[in-house]
Formats: sequence, C-alpha cells, structure tokens
Amino acid sequence: MNVNQSAPPVPPYGQPQPVYPGYHQSSFGGQPGSTAPPNTYGAYNGPVPGYPQTPPPGVSRAPPSSGVPPASTAQAPCGQGGYGQFGQGDVQNGPSSTVQMQRLPGSQPFGSAPLAPVVSQPAVLQPCGPPPTSAQVTAQMAGMQISGSVTPAPPPSGLGYGPPTSLASASGNFPNSGLYSSCPQGQAPPLSQAQGHSGAQPPQRSAPQQASSFTPQASGGPRMPSMTGPLLPGQSFGGPPLNQPNHVSSPPPQALHPGTQMAGPPGPPPPMHSSQQQGYQLQQNGSYGPTRGPQPNYGSPYPGAPAFGSQPGPPQPLPPKRLDPDAIPSPIQVIEDDRNNRGSEPFVTGVRGQVPPLVTTNFLVKDQGNASPRYIRCTSYNIPCTSDMAKQAQVPLAAVIKPLARLPPEEASPYVVDHGESGPLRCNRCKAYMCPFMQFVEGGRRFQCCFCSCINDVPPQYFQHLDHTGKRVDAYDRPELSLGSYEFLATVDYCKNNKFPSPPAFIFMIDVSYNAIRSGLVRLLCEELKSLLDFLPREGGAEESAIRVGFVTYNKVLHFYNVKSSLAQPQMMVVSDVADMFVPLLDGFLVNVNESRAVIISLLDQIPEMFADTRETETVFAPVIQAGMEALKAAECAGKLFIFHTSLPIAEAPGKLKNRDDRKLINTDKEKTLFQPQTGTYQALAKECVAQGCCVDLFLFPNQYVDVATLSVVPQLTGGSVYKYACFQVENDQERFMSDLRRDVEKVVGFDAVMRVRTSTGIRAVDFFGAFYMSNTTDVELAGLDGEKTVTVEFKHDDRLNEESGALLQCALLYTSCGGQRRLRIHNLALNCCTQLADLYRNCETDTLINYMAKFAYRGVLNSPVKTVRDTLITQCAQILACYRKNCASPSSAGQLILPECMKLLPVYLNCVLKSDVLQPGAEVTTDDRAYVRQLVTCMDVAETNVFFYPRLLPLTKSPIENTTEPPAIRASEERLSNGDIYLLENGLNLFIWVGAGVQQGVVQSLFNVSSFSQITSGLSILPVLDNPLSKKVRGLIDSLRAQRSRYMKLIVVKQEDKLEMLFKHFLVEDKSLSGGASYVDFLCHMHKEIRQLLS
Ligand SMILES: [Zn+2]
Repeated sequence: MNVNQSAPPVPPYGQPQPVYPGYHQSSFGGQPGSTAPPNTYGAYNGPVPGYPQTPPPGVSRAPPSSGVPPASTAQAPCGQGGYGQFGQGDVQNGPSSTVQMQRLPGSQPFGSAPLAPVVSQPAVLQPCGPPPTSAQVTAQMAGMQISGSVTPAPPPSGLGYGPPTSLASASGNFPNSGLYSSCPQGQAPPLSQAQGHSGAQPPQRSAPQQASSFTPQASGGPRMPSMTGPLLPGQSFGGPPLNQPNHVSSPPPQALHPGTQMAGPPGPPPPMHSSQQQGYQLQQNGSYGPTRGPQPNYGSPYPGAPAFGSQPGPPQPLPPKRLDPDAIPSPIQVIEDDRNNRGSEPFVTGVRGQVPPLVTTNFLVKDQGNASPRYIRCTSYNIPCTSDMAKQAQVPLAAVIKPLARLPPEEASPYVVDHGESGPLRCNRCKAYMCPFMQFVEGGRRFQCCFCSCINDVPPQYFQHLDHTGKRVDAYDRPELSLGSYEFLATVDYCKNNKFPSPPAFIFMIDVSYNAIRSGLVRLLCEELKSLLDFLPREGGAEESAIRVGFVTYNKVLHFYNVKSSLAQPQMMVVSDVADMFVPLLDGFLVNVNESRAVIISLLDQIPEMFADTRETETVFAPVIQAGMEALKAAECAGKLFIFHTSLPIAEAPGKLKNRDDRKLINTDKEKTLFQPQTGTYQALAKECVAQGCCVDLFLFPNQYVDVATLSVVPQLTGGSVYKYACFQVENDQERFMSDLRRDVEKVVGFDAVMRVRTSTGIRAVDFFGAFYMSNTTDVELAGLDGEKTVTVEFKHDDRLNEESGALLQCALLYTSCGGQRRLRIHNLALNCCTQLADLYRNCETDTLINYMAKFAYRGVLNSPVKTVRDTLITQCAQILACYRKNCASPSSAGQLILPECMKLLPVYLNCVLKSDVLQPGAEVTTDDRAYVRQLVTCMDVAETNVFFYPRLLPLTKSPIENTTEPPAIRASEERLSNGDIYLLENGLNLFIWVGAGVQQGVVQSLFNVSSFSQITSGLSILPVLDNPLSKKVRGLIDSLRAQRSRYMKLIVVKQEDKLEMLFKHFLVEDKSLSGGASYVDFLCHMHKEIRQLLS
C-alpha cells in the first residue's frame, strides 16, 4: 500500500492542483520533481465539506441479481499477449454484427417526398417531463416545400456566380479558407508539363507514366477493419405498445381549427394564440436581431433560385404559409437557458445518472465518484433495462470518451496512485480495476466486483476495516475508492516486452519538392522549428523535455540527417531506394535538443538553401512514414512523425497514388469510393506503425487534389491529426499554420496506448468510432492519443439490466507519458436504468446523440450511398420521436408535433448533419474537403460537433460598446441578419465577419479603417489594429474564440451581396442550402410527417 502519502503539504482534496493543466503530474513513485509543485496523492484527508457521507451510489448496493457472469468473461490468465491489462482476451465482446445500412420501411426518402404541402395542422411542440415551464407552441405548419431532388440547386441567378459545376470557377475566387479553397491556376512549376489532363487536374511532370492514372477508379482499396462495423440495424418501429402510464403532464387541448387537419394546399393560417406561444417568447427578444421581413437592399435568399430542389412544383397561388421560425425550438434559447440554470453551480458527480450541463455551458466539475463529463458524455444517463425497450426507442446508447481531456486550471488533474510492485488491484475474473463501485465484504477481506460480481480476495497489504455502513474507513483517502477518475502507475507487466519504455521521439519529415519550396513553406517551417523545439511537451515540472528529435527531408528520395552533438555540421545521408526503406544511421539521428542545439540550428538554416533551386515536383509518401517508423523501431521507442507534405505522391514507390478524383460519382452508388483509400498500402503501414507506437500527424499543403482519403489513413489509424492548408502561401496562411503547428508540437500526448471499456453485466461495448486501430473487437489501440481526441463507444444489451444496480462503465487507458512513464488512466461512470421509456427520454443529451449520429453517418458513407445514409438518419430520428410520442406523450391530435424536452433540438441539429459537406456537398466543396471533414469529425468531442454543425453567430454591433461580455448568439439564419450591423460567425474551423451594406460609416471606419462600405476589402483576413473601443472589442473577441478552439480559425471578412457571401451563407444552417439541404422549418415539417407515418 504505497500511495505516496509522504508528500509535503498539498492542496486540500478537491482543490485545484497547481500543475500543468492536463494530465501529467510529477513526483510520484519516488521520483520527486525538483521544481514540481507537490501534487502527489496524499491530500486525501477525508471528505471535504459537502462530500456526501453516504457511500457513493453503487457501493452498497446489492449484488446484481444476474450474478452469473457471462461465460465469455470466464477466467483468463492475466498477462497473455503484450499487455497484462488486456489479458482476458477479446472474448468479452463478441463479433459485432455487420448490418448493411438500409432504408427502413415505413418512411419515405426525404428527397422524393411529394411536393404538395404535407402537414397543415397546428403542431404542438410540447416539452416532456419536469420542469413544467413547458413551452407549448401551436404553429401553423403549412406551405413548406419538402420536395425536390437532392441534386444541387442551380446557382442563383443575378448574383454573378459561376456555374457550380465548374469547380475552379465556383471556388477559385475564395480566399484560402482552409475548407473551401481551390487555388488560382498557374502554380505549377516552370517545367515542361504534360497538359493532357482534365482542367481540374494538376499539371504533373512525368506525364507518360501518369497518363493512365487519371482513369477514375471504380472501386477503392480494401476497407479498413476499424471503419467497417455494424451499421444501423434495420429494426422497424412498432413493437408491441407498452402499457404504461404517461409520465408527462399532458398539454391542454389545443384549439384545432376546422379544416387544418387535412392535407392539401394550405389555406390561410389560423390566427395564432399568443398564449400558446409563451414558452418561446424569449426568442422574440429584440436582442436577437429580429430583422425579419423584407429589408432594403436585401432580398430573400438566393433570388431566383428554385425553391428547394429542382422540380418546379405546382403553382402556389397563395404565398406559402411558413411556420413561424420563432415558434419552433431555438438552439440559442436552449443554450441560454442551460447557461442560466446550470452555469453557476459546480457539477458534482456523486449522484448516479445525472445529466450534466450542456457543453455550451461553462461549469466546474467536482469529482465525487463518477468521471467528469469532460472525460465521458453519454447519449442517455438512464438506459432501458431491456434490449426490447432500447430497440423500441431507437435511441443509440453511446458514450463519447475523451480519456486525456485537458481540464480547466480550476480542476484537479487525476491523482496518480501507486500500488507498488503488485500493480493496480483488479478483479481476477473480468480484470476491471479497483473503483468506487467495488463492494467490500466479509469485514473487508474480500470485494465483490461491480462489473462481473466475482468475489475476490483483498491482498493483505490492501486490507482495511469497514465502517458500520460497510464502507472501508480509508475510502476517502484513496482516489480509486472515492473518485471517478484517477491514474495507476503501471508495472513492468503492462509494458511491451516486459521492459519499461524509453521516452518517445518526434521526427520532423519535410517535403522539399518544388511546391514546398516555392510557396515559402520550407523556409518558414525551418525558421519556426528553431524556436518550437524548446516547447516539446514535458512531464509536469521537468526541466526539459525527455523527447528526442530527428529530421528527414524528402521529395522522390529521402534525406536523413545526422545531428549528433559532437559534429560541427549536420551530415546528410540520402536513401534513394524508396522501395525498400531502411534507416541509414542510428547514432546521431534522434537527439536531445539541448545537447545538439547548434547542429540542429545549422541544419534548419541550411535546408531551405540546399533545396532552393529544386526542380523536383514528384514526391513519395508511404516510404516517408515507413522511414520514420523504422527509425523509432531502431531506437526502441514510441513517438510521433510530423509530416509536411504538398502533393499527390506520384513518384514510383510503394503507396504511389493516382488522381482518381471524379465529381461525377457524387450522388451515385460509387460515391463511397471517393471516401475509401485507393490502395491497401497505407492500412498495412498503419498497422506496423501502431505496433511500434508511431503516431503520424500530417500537415498537407495541396495546390490540387492530393487524395486526402488515402493520405489520411495512417494518421487516422494511429491516433494522429490531419491539417490541410489548401494553396498555402506564406503571407496568407502563415499565422494559421504556425499556430496549429505550435499547438500540435506542444500538446501532451499519450503514446503506445490501449483503451478498453468494461461494462457491468447486461450491456457491452459493441462499436467504436475515432482515430485508432483495432485488431480485435475490444481493444482500441492508439499509437498516440492527445487531449483533444475522443473515442465514441456504442453499447448494446446482452442481458436484462436492473433498475437498482444501474449500469457501470469503466474506461481504462494504458499509455506511455511524454516522460516515458507507463500509466493507466481509469474513468468510471455509473448510469441509471429504467423500465419506463419516459425516463430514458428525460435523461438524454441531444448534443451527444448528434455527435454519435454524425460519426455513425460519416462512417456509413464508406459503405453506402450517401443518400441511404441520410435516409437512415432521418428514419432513426423519426423513430426516436415517434416512440416518444406514442409511449410518453399524452394523447393528442396526430397533427401535433410533440417533442421530448431533452430532444427538442434533435431535428434542427440532425438537419445540420444531413446537409453537411460530407452528406450533401455544395458545388464548391472538393472531394478532399469532404474526406478531410469526415476525418476531423470522427475524433471530435461533443462541444466541437455542436458548434461545427450549428455555428455560432454573434452580432458585433448590437450591444453597447462598453458591454464587454460576449454578445448573445443569434440563430444561424439570414433572416436574423440586419444590413445595418456586423456579425461574426464561427464553427470551430472557420471564422467570418459579415458586414451589412447599411452599416454606419463610423462603424466601418472604426473597424476597417476605411471610409465606406465599398472600400472594405472583401476576403480580408486580418483586421487592422486600431486604437478604438470597437476595434479592440472585436479583435479581443476573435482572440478569445480562437483560444477556445483546438485549431486556428482563419478570419474571412464577407460583405453583404459580395461574391464571397455565398461561402458565408453556407453556414447559415437554418436556411435552405444551395446544395439542396432543407431549411429548419421545412425539415421539421418533414420530420413531423415521418413521425405521423410511423404512428399511423
Ligand atoms: Zn469482475
């Protein structure tokens, strides 16, 4: 029992530990850091005031009634394979079923609904459950235009856009936004080019060998095992109706207007009853910029564009009766309410099954036995007891887990527990780690596992007496008995080859082909690296980073550099046999920065000069990864490759790629091939990388198609990150690239990691989403894992759950820290279980549901036509809401749309997912953009998907200048914009400032330093630094938004009715989109129709 109790005075338990935010701590296990603040575990001197004296839920509960563990968890010897933690093999989770994504019966494809208005009844949006501040809105759902095909709508006439089918002309004028940019032509090197390619293709040298490569590939390469998996089961809705009381207060009967129940051409709308709208009154607050209706100089969106879809539709003599946008659930209002209701008090995790505040609310967390929502968020905190119930509700049961999440400075990093040579205490049978839910029995001599019910002996050194409640008297002195999250020091049994790991290494691998030199990238990068190397991640308190560094440059061949400290000058070694990559030097390749500083600086000075006159345009890619991985292997360490790459790797070498971009495949059954890698080479390489703990971060600087879908395979499977800077030019993109790079180099990473999620009897993890590799069905292997990456885990029932005992999750992550220490991070979470569907619907979290559904859909496009994926999402959403309506809502007219309170934003958010670039691309979105976004979303946490799918739109000039708080957001719709104001929009990747044409001259002057609207440069990416309150305020806001996001958001200034405005409008997600995406109002009506169909 060695819990580092000899530490010097420490902050009281529960107080913030004054360490590096993040997970690394110092001074445990007898290695006190010289300058480290004393943060060892030892502060556990009993419960803090307010800590409940009752045992944590679950501790004193009765053993699960279904005490017999599944046979699959039977004893397995610990320590088989490489890692003791995962000794029980992969039998616990059986093979997941792979069900092809299919359209479910009973619903109609969204895109082909009849054109006639479908719903014309009053609809009631009635929130369920407590609080009874339920909003009731009757609204006229008439005149919506759910129709048309999903083909992109023709361009708006009169705005001067080029034909959308011409990619280059449609997007060529955009500044490099990072997402939607294609380059100006003429960036090819001044060499004799073969120009026989289609217009959008890059001029490439060595045309003869390229000639055949422009045939679009009809079929992609083999699929990655981790990317395939069970898809949405095609369970049809409508099992036996549950005989259960309604758990929600029924809304007062709405006055239905005669005639409004029938479908057909809409008549005039019934008068609104103001009393029925009170629940949403706040949305009509003037501060939301309610400039609806016609505005001077500002027409309706896309004048001339056909209404949603390309079918003409029947003539509509009457102007369509629109559902009042203020009468439908508002994301802004929900976010605001949650902030007001839950932002002031800390979220205390002691109570099982509590739904945390929304991700958009700022709140502090106090760990009292369950993992913080910063580590784990669930789609529901109350899960159905039976699989029948779960199938009926169709609510996915999933957890979004961010094992190494960074915490705000006010919250303590997980304590590190050292159980000495015997290692962490675990259940003998299921190998779960000691946690607050384990129940001690027989006077403390044994404990019963909360996951599998096995009775285990307590080792003598761990013995402690129990108090009268059956709880160990030292429970509050031990993190593993009282906290949701903590770390164990791993013993050598948890290390590869039973050897403690060496510190990791970083290898910088720089493309020095013509494009990289010409754009200024190489010079900029080398200059920046000189200072960046002082910011390598350190173990908390360490004087210098333990991480060693190495350098490689490449084009068609690879150049390794010897930067040994004893050398006067770096030495270059060229490897031109890229087919059989080997590392030409061991000694002197990976070095300590401080020791070799002079040689490294000299190298970084020389690289840009050495290749300044290069004419080499071709690059290799797979051999670069291979080389880095081999170097780590030779050094017997884990690590990360930073690859800076510019072009499609067409040089003759393993992993050589063809240009197979073909936009004609969009909306065909072969569209999925665009997302699939074109060769299996990279997947095989990724597998080798994972085995070595080699994580790959890829920085792409393409001037044209580079096949992101293929190039990102290795980063994706190794837990790495991909960054893309299309048409990189130093003057435009320097700030963004430098900021991203700095952050990426500095961030704390866990290496050579394996994650396992254990569950209590009755449910099991069946599916996983994220950037990782899986060689069996249970172990998530991550060559690297940083504090921003999430792994989403889906659960299914394999037995009946018990209301009393609830359900438990334990996520265990075994990893090597930046300092080379092997650790286990444990997160525990207890959930409630219910026998009433209403309890499920009361405890859902829509933001997490959307995170899961987006990831599910984005993986689905690898295997199914995009339209099928969209339809599946719509059907599932309709089933979820119909099940609620049928079983939980009070009887009411079928014409009423009744949404559960916790899910009232499900339709609007789902619509955003459906019309996102991956599922419904606009003409300006390239194949690479889609693959890139798909890859990004796969690892996003809930806060990131929330703002990514529903961007934040902030009025900048509405509130008084003295008001220093962030302005309240408004709904992402053009209707909300006033031409006399300026707005900021961000989605975590992009940042826009939209300037109305009628903005006062003084405001224009203050912000842009020009005298009139017409003089503002469209596409401006930097605001002038001006000494006035407005300028300071706006720039300060931009800085603070950038600091909140994991990637640098480049600013684009957009003027009203300017060409670039189309780009901006893409993000006004409540509106109809040019690519055919429905408006929020229309989608809600469509959803209502789908629900009614399911109910009838
Ligand atoms: Zn167990």
